[in-house]
Amino acid sequence: MFSSLNLDPQILRAIEEEGYTEPTPVQAQAIPHVLAGRDLMAMAQTGTGKTAAFTLPLLQRLLPHASTSASPARHPVRALILAPTRELAIQVEESVETYSRHVPLRSTVVFGGIDIKTQKPALMKGVEILVATPGRLLDHVESKNLMLNQVQVLILDEADRMLDMGFMPDLKRILTLLPKQRQTLLFSATFSDDIKKLAHDFLVNPITVEAERRNTAAANVIQSVLMVDQDNKLGVLADLLRSRGLGSQALVFTRTKLAAARLARKLDREGIPSDAIHGDKTQLERIKALDAFKEGKITALVATDVAARGLDIDQLPLVVNYELPTNAEDYVHRIGRTGRAGASGEAISLVGGEEERRLVEIEKLLKRSFPRERAAVSHSSRASSSHRAAKPAAHGYVKKNVPVDDWFLKPYEPSPAAAKIAEQPSFNPDKPKKQIAALLCRSPAKN
Ligand code: AMP
Repeated sequence: MFSSLNLDPQILRAIEEEGYTEPTPVQAQAIPHVLAGRDLMAMAQTGTGKTAAFTLPLLQRLLPHASTSASPARHPVRALILAPTRELAIQVEESVETYSRHVPLRSTVVFGGIDIKTQKPALMKGVEILVATPGRLLDHVESKNLMLNQVQVLILDEADRMLDMGFMPDLKRILTLLPKQRQTLLFSATFSDDIKKLAHDFLVNPITVEAERRNTAAANVIQSVLMVDQDNKLGVLADLLRSRGLGSQALVFTRTKLAAARLARKLDREGIPSDAIHGDKTQLERIKALDAFKEGKITALVATDVAARGLDIDQLPLVVNYELPTNAEDYVHRIGRTGRAGASGEAISLVGGEEERRLVEIEKLLKRSFPRERAAVSHSSRASSSHRAAKPAAHGYVKKNVPVDDWFLKPYEPSPAAAKIAEQPSFNPDKPKKQIAALLCRSPAKN
């Protein structure tokens, strides 16, 4: 019960409004220690409720400093939440907004990829809780837009990914700017040796909380493997998505940005509304794609590992690994996008013969093996519109062998949809945050 966690009634009110009835395991384990001021190292994947696990006790601890004063001096940065990607930073800040909606604590988010000047006004007004990607945070420090000398709580979210993305030098610099006397919370999906070293160097006598077993995938995700040659993957994926009905969405993973862009375009051409999010897209494009996905306007969102970090999409039923990740741990992150907060989910990996070695690495990590089912292949999908409404075959794959259509060999051109997005006006520099909130379909409502 949340009521037994010693949280302020105004924080409990926000939780209740979100419809949460019970704390998730990571919340139940972490909240009492964070409230007690301990450093914490928590192993928790996205989807376990980790954001509330650190935000709720953080708000509680900052409540004595809450102030309705307009003076910026009364609103120094007291909590810093670092996240590896813009998407995660935005989502974390949205959660902070949600849980703090009945308390006078201010928060904002800063991340790269948009004009730094647009983020300055919110910082100058003063915020108690700052969510940031490391590079942009340092840019703001250099521009003297903020001071970090009053930070009492530092939270490293998805710390493993921050290290994977090469943020260690930035992290080290940021840590030198913070008071030595502080509480540090580290959240990571995996506890690699590097993470342990980071914790050893920057945390003091931390409590360790393990919400999921080491490197295990969520138990409520049904995982399967379909052996299919690279050339046949598109047909198999298209059939699979159609067989489930276009209302049923999937997050599809590729290894590279180029593959993500190409696949989204090809699926679109197959009559399956799709978009891609990857590092070459602007922040606005990514937000638009995510927004369209959340609203159900697109069936397939094709993503690279980095771009998909931290995506919080409720009730996503299916994750497809169109290509297996190079790093086996990314498989765990990928499939953690489905089966979130107790819901059941499915993860299907389309594995080409040349990917067998990667599959074996994943099996080693998960300590399980997957039956290698061979996908039945069809390339008739693009040609046959009647097929779209066709009843799915047993597994949703059409059992017919057709040679590769030369359309697949055509060079890549940007889709009209992508071109249109590229022409969109950029952010209104006066109101970056509101615009992001609007794009994400949630306006920050504060009392
Ligand atoms: P996170 O792991 O923080 O990304 O959270 C995953 C999802 O779980 C989010 O959509 C949260 O809104 C939701 N969530 C967090 N805590 C709870 C809870 N105690 N009960 C139900 N849903 C929750």
